[in-house]
Amino acid sequence: MIDAHIHCFPPEISDNITQWADTNNESHWLKLVAPDNKTSLQDWASKEAMLEAMDKANISQSILLGWYWENKATCLKHNELMKQWMDFAPNRLFAFASIYPNEDPIAQLELARSMGFKGVGELHPIIQNYEANKAHWHTMAEWCEANNWPINFHVTEGLNRAYPNFIPTPFHIYLDIATVFPNLRIILSHWGGGIPFFEQNPKLKDRLKNVYYDTAASPLLYDINIFKNVISMIGSEKILFGSDYPLKVYPKKQANADMETFIKDIQMNAGLSETEFEQIFEKNINHLLSLQS
Ligand SMILES: [Zn+2]
Repeated sequence: MIDAHIHCFPPEISDNITQWADTNNESHWLKLVAPDNKTSLQDWASKEAMLEAMDKANISQSILLGWYWENKATCLKHNELMKQWMDFAPNRLFAFASIYPNEDPIAQLELARSMGFKGVGELHPIIQNYEANKAHWHTMAEWCEANNWPINFHVTEGLNRAYPNFIPTPFHIYLDIATVFPNLRIILSHWGGGIPFFEQNPKLKDRLKNVYYDTAASPLLYDINIFKNVISMIGSEKILFGSDYPLKVYPKKQANADMETFIKDIQMNAGLSETEFEQIFEKNINHLLSLQS
């Protein structure tokens, strides 16, 4: 089984979150991982702890995703860290690069490829300012399309009660990118924020044909029936399992983040057939990555 959406941060960060964020000028990230007057859902894991969590959950491989940093320097630093983790467990950890598309995207992509990365993301078109830098983002997307590199985008759910740091991500941005780059493989995180519903519009279905959806953080947002319900709208070929580890996605049950609680919930309660389970946990992501070689 493969987890296509996990994150890694420098292990020492957890003791000095505010200082690290201030030094690197990453205020949005700080608000997410250390929200004012609220308990954080973010947990931290060393690479050893991550592999242990994978073993316990029977996950053989995971994809480390970068982060939507507000600065190129942070992206470069984060990629160095992910490279160390990949080198530590080369058959088990793969990674998508942190990219700051607004400055020299090609140089960042070429460097990331030389370091062994296999895709881009997680990107955030609002936090990373897509509209003002569209030309650069399109340069990045063109390179990714030509090289069969998927791009993973964060998508905020289209509707929710207001919570701190709820930053809407307008759906039209993703539709624009999918339309301009029809062969680009796009992964929309968090069930695409509800975009699968709109695939029922025949005029959009074709434009979204190379769009995939991951399940990251699903238990925080939706009940388990979402698996069957989304499959009924778009089938099971475009859904990728992702946990968002080390995020605590069952905060009432988990003292620390793990991968197995979510997987057991899916196995027991999502009502997936064996074929659907295999596609979501293994075949779909393997198909995406196999296009590169
Ligand atoms: Zn996300």
